[in-house]
Amino acid sequence: MAVDLLGSDSQIRRFRSRLLNWYARNKRDLPWRDAENPYHVWISEIMLQQTRVDQMQPFFERFTAAFPTVGALAAASQEEVLKAWEGLGYYARARNLHRAAQRVVEAGGNIPDRYEELVGLPGIGPYTAAAVSSIAFDRDHPVLDGNVTRVLCRLLRLEGDPRKAAVKTELIAAGERLLARGRAGDFNQAMMELGARICKPTSPACGQCAVVEMCRAHAELDDPARLPTKVRKPTRPHYEVTAGVIWKGSQLLVAQRSSDGMLGGLWEFPGGKREPGESLQECLRREIREELTIDIEVGGLLAKVDHGYSHFSITLNLFEAMYRGGEPEAVECDDWRWIDPTELDDLPMPRADRRALEELSEEEGQRVPVLMPPVAAKERNRK
Ligand code: SF4
Repeated sequence: MAVDLLGSDSQIRRFRSRLLNWYARNKRDLPWRDAENPYHVWISEIMLQQTRVDQMQPFFERFTAAFPTVGALAAASQEEVLKAWEGLGYYARARNLHRAAQRVVEAGGNIPDRYEELVGLPGIGPYTAAAVSSIAFDRDHPVLDGNVTRVLCRLLRLEGDPRKAAVKTELIAAGERLLARGRAGDFNQAMMELGARICKPTSPACGQCAVVEMCRAHAELDDPARLPTKVRKPTRPHYEVTAGVIWKGSQLLVAQRSSDGMLGGLWEFPGGKREPGESLQECLRREIREELTIDIEVGGLLAKVDHGYSHFSITLNLFEAMYRGGEPEAVECDDWRWIDPTELDDLPMPRADRRALEELSEEEGQRVPVLMPPVAAKERNRK
């Protein structure tokens, strides 16, 4: 097994000592690196599941300011939680976090310190349970995130797809063997930090690496960045999507996405994916009839936005539209509302809809979106 290549006990002790010394001197001052506050550690680990540190830090600060304790998070409405999460993506994380906070409060309000209890909470899988229990409570569990996986593949010169069972088994065994027991929190964070700042995906800075002497990829390969073995990703499909700013008098219609689906619980301009052979206008009329059972008249194109998700990309075509008849029913969504345009700022919305609004604002030369009913807009343009 590759784990044998880690060397003798004394070599492993030297590895831990070098890594931990490097970390003590070089760790970044991040607001959730506060072992006194397991709630902060938990929030940060959920946010970091799909988001880089530099991108998530402002969201972490905004979210923990809105909900400073697990009790405050549990007591909030789902809409408030989604609003505070807006822009971070992968909204199932926020919904699960909210449900998990409610469970923690029901059980007395203390965040569990043991892996076995953490792993049963919504949104907490084996990786997050290991990270929270080790970082917040120094429990002896190694973590294997993307950064740590990369470091281990290079240290051990592990070939093959790290998501495949055989390689994963080697990685888990190596993580267990290397872990500095009793200092698991620092050790795990040091491995993650080494991956994020030194052993980077395309350009590892081996000359600055604290553990370079123990690294097989550095010693044996022309280019350590060849590992982990790259796996070709399937090309993402692209969809044309329409949405409508549907006016009834001075109010416009928003729909809440189904809570069990992608972007669940967020509010959006209703619409959907274009079918083959359909014009964008036909698509919007059909989608609104299917989703909300009402008829509309489609007007001009207001904004066009390209947006990427993890498994597909879209072009969102936002049209102006007028309500023509029928009582809205939430058939393919969870809820709907007629709102004043000023209320849009308070609703949690998908990033693509927000970007379409921003595009309109830029055209208007305004910082905040200006949407007004077509009649009022005509009046304004005449002045
Ligand atoms: S020596 Fe280079 S490849 Fe090896 S762990 Fe350090 S940075 Fe990564």
